Amino acid sequence: MTDAVETPEAETLASDVRGPDLFSKFDALIAERQALLDTGVRDPYAIVMTEVRSPTEAIINGKPTILLGTYNYMGMTFDPDVVAAGKKALDEFGAGTTGSRVLNGTYQGHKECEDALKDFFGTTSAMVFSTGYQANLGIISTIAGKGDYIILDADSHASIYDGCWLGNAEIVRFRHNSVEDLDKRLGRLPADAGKLVVLEGVYSMFGDIAPLPEMVAVAKKHGAMILVDEAHGMGFFGEKGRGVYEELGVEDDVDFVIGTFSKSVGTVGGFCVSNHPKFEVLRLVCRPYVFTASLPPSVVATAAASIRKLMNAGEKRAHLWKNSKRLHQGLRDLGFKLGTETAQSAIIAVMLPDQQTTVLMWQALLERGLYVNMARPPATPAGTYLLRCSLCAEHSDEQVGEILGMFESAGRAVGCIG
Ligand code: PMP
Repeated sequence: MTDAVETPEAETLASDVRGPDLFSKFDALIAERQALLDTGVRDPYAIVMTEVRSPTEAIINGKPTILLGTYNYMGMTFDPDVVAAGKKALDEFGAGTTGSRVLNGTYQGHKECEDALKDFFGTTSAMVFSTGYQANLGIISTIAGKGDYIILDADSHASIYDGCWLGNAEIVRFRHNSVEDLDKRLGRLPADAGKLVVLEGVYSMFGDIAPLPEMVAVAKKHGAMILVDEAHGMGFFGEKGRGVYEELGVEDDVDFVIGTFSKSVGTVGGFCVSNHPKFEVLRLVCRPYVFTASLPPSVVATAAASIRKLMNAGEKRAHLWKNSKRLHQGLRDLGFKLGTETAQSAIIAVMLPDQQTTVLMWQALLERGLYVNMARPPATPAGTYLLRCSLCAEHSDEQVGEILGMFESAGRAVGCIG
């Protein structure tokens, strides 16, 4: 503030000159949403879980509801050892760290969590972020700088795109899962430029997996480094549960793996693991790591306990595959159009023709006691509306049967299936 005396001219300026309302850019979205709600449907983005009974069941609108849209793949949220570890840390270390990892925010628990990640992934380094979103934001924007190129799949998660925009590298997109397009676009770049190819093990909208061996081979041919986001692969794919990159045998060729604690691990947080000899320098230069408070001690304690248990979760993985294949086949048999021909992951996308049908179907399922995610652009490609189901290793055989029954009844009521 200055002590400037108000002049008559300044008064005129204050009262007569008005810029546009900065919110006017949202008018179309507000109108579209209102038109939808005026048809009498519930808002699919305003669900409140008043009680959560288990990884697969909650109370929504006073009604017991099966959860089929949580990414809680391994059902670790209520694991007794995980919950106990969190309570102990809360008692012993308090509610929060109130500080950055590079100042007062690194506790014993953060180191133990990073040790658990190093053991789980078999890497020399692990860096924990406050979310998976921030892990992508930080790692991508920091390692690819001015004059470097980031080559990413067009269907990449928002956090990958935002990581690209936060940094100064040139951004090149290739057609979703197209090895040929990746090769072509890499071939056009200067041979001596730094290049980072960014891939995801599982793509979360359609539940399809990446052809990683072919993509890795092409990236290597052009001298690029490779980052794979295993947000939806960790816990479920590969003998050790490391992700699709383990399952498809390219562990030695992937330079950086990004992951999250908000899916299979069952809590919140993000990370990057790597064997790069200079990886630790990132702790000093990665802004989304440095300029934010670290995770609470209870969260890193639950994450570490969960990660260690996921190392020996072969049975859970097998049950999750069984559930995923059964639901996929069952929905196909009912006549639904799905995002993939066969079950490729624990995500099953039910494709619907437009927003109105999708919301009606979503609501019909909720009324029957089933929660799934509704996805629309910009989370999905333009013009694509879908209901995303994500299975959990804790869904019982009975629940999968109930889920199919609810899809059948809702699909007939809305007219999506005959
Ligand atoms: N990457 C992918 C592929 C994701 O799907 C998500 C979350 N849906 C994230 C990163 C971000 O994870 P987080 O929830 O930990 O921010």
